[in-house]
Amino acid sequence: MTTVIFETDNAIFSFDLADVIDLLSCYSSEHQVEEATDLLKVLESMPGDIRKAPPENEFFDYVVLDLLGKGKGSIFCKTCQKTYQAKQLQSFPLGGAGSDQAKHRKWKKKV
Ligand SMILES: [Zn+2]
Repeated sequence: MTTVIFETDNAIFSFDLADVIDLLSCYSSEHQVEEATDLLKVLESMPGDIRKAPPENEFFDYVVLDLLGKGKGSIFCKTCQKTYQAKQLQSFPLGGAGSDQAKHRKWKKKV
């Protein structure tokens, strides 16, 4: 399995390359998003099983949010030093008491 890594100041996101390609292809062909076409080319041309998304490409922020919203991928939180599955974050109950859960819900929004 090939993994796409996207690193921010707070977290490291990991996604299945196939999921990223699917989503980017949709943005690229159906919505003519140039950034998506560029990202597709970059990610597909990289060798190896771990492919780092270029941090300067702001469009990848949208890709991250979209995939997380679909319950895909995982997140390593640098603050907690823990890995969370996207599905785990989604299942946090609204208004839940856990401060850690509330914190992650917030930070998920401002990826
Ligand atoms: Zn955390």
